[in-house]
Amino acid sequence: AKAEGRNRFKVFNTRMLEDAIRLMDLENDLRAALKRGEFFLDYQPILALCDRRMTGFEALVRWRRPGKGVAPPNDFIPVAEDTGLIVPLGLWVLAEACRTMASWHERFPETRSMSMSVNLSAKQLAQPTLVEDVERVLRATGMDPRALKLEITETVIMDNPEVSILRLKRLKALGVRLSVDDFGTGYSSLSYLQRFPIDTLKVDRAFVSDIESSENRKIVGAVVALAHSLGLDVVAEGVELETQSDVLNGFACEAGQGFLFSRPVCREDVERLFGQGG
Ligand code: C2E
Ligand code: CA
Ligand code: CA
Ligand code: CA
Repeated sequence: AKAEGRNRFKVFNTRMLEDAIRLMDLENDLRAALKRGEFFLDYQPILALCDRRMTGFEALVRWRRPGKGVAPPNDFIPVAEDTGLIVPLGLWVLAEACRTMASWHERFPETRSMSMSVNLSAKQLAQPTLVEDVERVLRATGMDPRALKLEITETVIMDNPEVSILRLKRLKALGVRLSVDDFGTGYSSLSYLQRFPIDTLKVDRAFVSDIESSENRKIVGAVVALAHSLGLDVVAEGVELETQSDVLNGFACEAGQGFLFSRPVCREDVERLFGQGG
């Protein structure tokens, strides 16, 4: 039994080593991919629930791997976060999203009231240079700061509340808006979040997908009402069904994002839509 145990330990160790090598390979691949320009963004529309008008987009990163197809963010963002590569990658995402929106604002008048949402990871918020970096990107791309929304998860904010509060206030001073992403999946309460200079709450898809259960319906209704009483507007994530949209609209939830309205689409598709005056 002892030998067996030792054997198993050895197997376990080899596996760990293989995993570590795979991670290092992926890290090197990611670094090279950033240099070679293999990342691109898709844009998912966000709509006002009362009249289904488009109010903005969320930029979502993808990786086109030569000969391997397109990798979704969940395949590489965690590694990018662990290795710190998320900092240069996130900055590229921010610049690309701002460049795109600034160009749409210029070319398509109907987009001028629309915003662009960009995800910020924990490592990015922890960068002392974040505010200057954002400021520089805004200036370089000609993006209207008021049209930029930065999405931060509640866990990231709660990681280091003192630093977060200062940095978020400095971001707000640039004129950009802030959203709490995936709300409901972390541990924070709305009353606590009120201490942070936040504009928008994004209710996580998990609550929306189960909104037909009477319990979840009550929770979402209460979250929306409390958010409104704190002066926040609410975006529901992952809206897939008309019934979900109806319930949310009944709660006066401002906006929705989900496959019911549109999947994330490439830049060219958005431009074709607006180019036709649609
Ligand atoms: P997220 O920020 O919560 O983004 C929304 C995700 O939900 C997207 O997945 C989107 O395609 C998906 N989604 C939208 N509507 C629906 C729906 O109706 N049903 C279902 N089942 N899914 C829906 P995606 O693009 O695979 O991104 C996954 C996550 O990767 C994002 O979750 C975000 O946490 C992260 N991510 C994506 N782009 C970036 C980025 O540029 N930077 C950072 N730090 N993270 C990113
Ligand atoms: Ca997001
Ligand atoms: Ca989200
Ligand atoms: Ca989510």
